[in-house]
Amino acid sequence: MSFVPPSDPVNKKQVKVSQLCELCRCRKAIIRRPKNLQKICKSCFFHVFETEIHNTIVNNNLFYRGEKVAIGASGGKDSTVLAYVLKLLNDRYDYGIELVLLSIDEGIVGYRDDSLATVKRNQVQYGLPLEIISYRELYDWTMDEIVACAGVRSSCTYCGVFRRQALDRGSSKLGISHVVTGHNADDMAETVLMNILRGDVARLEKSTAIITQSSGSPIKRSKPFKYSYQKEIVLYAHYKKLDYFSTECSYAPEAFRGTARELMKNLEMVRPSCIIDIIHSGENLVLKPKKPKRTGTPKQMEVRTDGSVSLGFVDGNKCEKCGYLSSNRICKACMLLEGLENNRAKVTLDNDTSTQGTARLTRTLESLKF
Ligand code: SF4
Ligand SMILES: [Zn+2]
Ligand SMILES: [Zn+2]
Repeated sequence: MSFVPPSDPVNKKQVKVSQLCELCRCRKAIIRRPKNLQKICKSCFFHVFETEIHNTIVNNNLFYRGEKVAIGASGGKDSTVLAYVLKLLNDRYDYGIELVLLSIDEGIVGYRDDSLATVKRNQVQYGLPLEIISYRELYDWTMDEIVACAGVRSSCTYCGVFRRQALDRGSSKLGISHVVTGHNADDMAETVLMNILRGDVARLEKSTAIITQSSGSPIKRSKPFKYSYQKEIVLYAHYKKLDYFSTECSYAPEAFRGTARELMKNLEMVRPSCIIDIIHSGENLVLKPKKPKRTGTPKQMEVRTDGSVSLGFVDGNKCEKCGYLSSNRICKACMLLEGLENNRAKVTLDNDTSTQGTARLTRTLESLKF
């Protein structure tokens, strides 16, 4: 059986009923949705993809009218689609938010310099302001120098700590207290799996939160793509012809995450819904209540002129070295920097043992609670 799609009077090609979009039943299906294997047309795919993100935003009260929101923009597909979709939804549903692109330049030649060129094009394409914060200006180190000094194995540990603080500092500088990131459903499911496999109960509890805010930070972070599949983000970017950068970082991603990712991909092939199912499992986990911790009484937040922020806890809230918020005496970034400085001195004396001190420091830091 076949017929002419009513919505397409120009293209009078006959379409078999079995080829029709399962949602509108009038256009030819060209996409099999990775999330539920539904066969749908391009317009319906755009509509469901955007509407699901809008529902996530509304159901979780992610924004309030007049809020200034920074989009953590790397030039990669996730953050490029995030910037595009947030701008579109803000106009379509009148959220009344002010969007800014915030990029971190880690100093990785051949990777970040090229991806930042993409963000600069996105700035023009989407008409959004852009702020770039570099590790060089904040820490006087680039990731390339850190890897040369500490080795490639701990690159993501350093990069993760520095990026978190850089995003906080960048946002504070712009007077923004909300950063949205392009973390998607696959990332979240991987994190849940990793924490289960490692028995990391403390992290497991927080791993499915759509909004997070660490005790030492005035900046909240949220993930509007929490329920969006990576494959759908790629399809959306492809069909919308978005300008994004697809090269991987030159330094290996965290090895254990890579293993969890492989496991997730294999599971997804057998059961596509497993990504969402793992997230739902994480959301519904009920952990034993913890013993209450003694905490200081928070006072008022103060943003200094250099962009650093003070929360004013009664004690132990500011890093003694950089003055930035920290629940420890010295913040995690300063501890890493101290290790790097010591290591740089040692490298000139004894290159063979140079990474051992840093590896030990990394292990010590990982065991600390921040
Ligand atoms: S892969 Fe690691 S080193 Fe590269 S940008 Fe990501 S966190 Fe940084
Ligand atoms: Zn359709
Ligand atoms: Zn510090």
